[in-house]
Amino acid sequence: MRTFVKPRAVFSKCLGFAACRYDGAIVADEFASRLRAHVAAAPVCPEMEIGLGCPRDPIRVVRRGGRVRLVQPATGRDVSGEMVAFASRFLASLGEVDGFLLKARSPSCGITDVKVYGGPGAEAPLGAGSGFFGGAVLRRFTDLPVEDEGRLNNIALREHFLTRLFAMASLRGVGRRGGMRDLAAFHAANEWLLAAYSRSRMRELGRLAACAGRRPSANLSAAYRRGFARALARPPRTTSIINVLMHALRYVSAGLKAGEKAFFLDLLEKYRAGKAPLSAALTLVRSWGVRFEVACLMQQTFLEPYPEALAETFAFRAPAR
Ligand code: SF4
Repeated sequence: MRTFVKPRAVFSKCLGFAACRYDGAIVADEFASRLRAHVAAAPVCPEMEIGLGCPRDPIRVVRRGGRVRLVQPATGRDVSGEMVAFASRFLASLGEVDGFLLKARSPSCGITDVKVYGGPGAEAPLGAGSGFFGGAVLRRFTDLPVEDEGRLNNIALREHFLTRLFAMASLRGVGRRGGMRDLAAFHAANEWLLAAYSRSRMRELGRLAACAGRRPSANLSAAYRRGFARALARPPRTTSIINVLMHALRYVSAGLKAGEKAFFLDLLEKYRAGKAPLSAALTLVRSWGVRFEVACLMQQTFLEPYPEALAETFAFRAPAR
């Protein structure tokens, strides 16, 4: 079993941390509460931080003459300036962080699908956009996983988010502790993961990791970190993941019975069709790695990208293609 570096993750505080919603409620989100046990959580409620109190009159995003404002219709207050200033101050103070899990559709924390109105009293929204805090997070942390709990009901997005979150955490500090060898070892352990996301990026990063001693390590580490984050920015294609799983199969194939191989190939077809989670195939390959003691296979983070307890093992929903 892998030992994981605990990611540093910022959460919207109402996602199970405090009853700070405008109506005094707390949001019970199963995934957020499970994730919380595996990360160093930094919960924040931007609306409480700017002094709106709880309970409070709701606020909304309003577009006026081409400008987007954050207003409280019941009081006529415009809190855009306070929220922008808070977001800037808070995000600058964070230091190293690996990702964000924010509240969906909130005019403050939302990252997409936040209702944008034509006026404080308008009944129907004009369209959708980002919340003031969520938008600031997206602009500042372009290379980090930033999600809302609503989108993570999609299992493919959830797997992608967790993979990025734990990968970025494991990269934190690499290249500083043990120099370039450290980075080369990190790259070797993440090669299959990178291959699943982008083979061309995997090769570029391999060249960087092989540059030991030719450039100052801080520059090289920073370049590697940027490239790694970008390689993992978009969800991988199902076919790329299956290709890596087929590659893994070659390491154990000689010891398997025909029925075991057929079972695995059937599982891959089910995964391709959205009828089985990726974690099922990964667990099976890992079990073969243990059985046949294939060290090079077991060191690949691809096979256990995040703690098993977070893998979706029930209520499976088909991934979006
Ligand atoms: S969505 Fe954000 S601002 Fe609203 S209650 Fe939750 S943490 Fe506070």
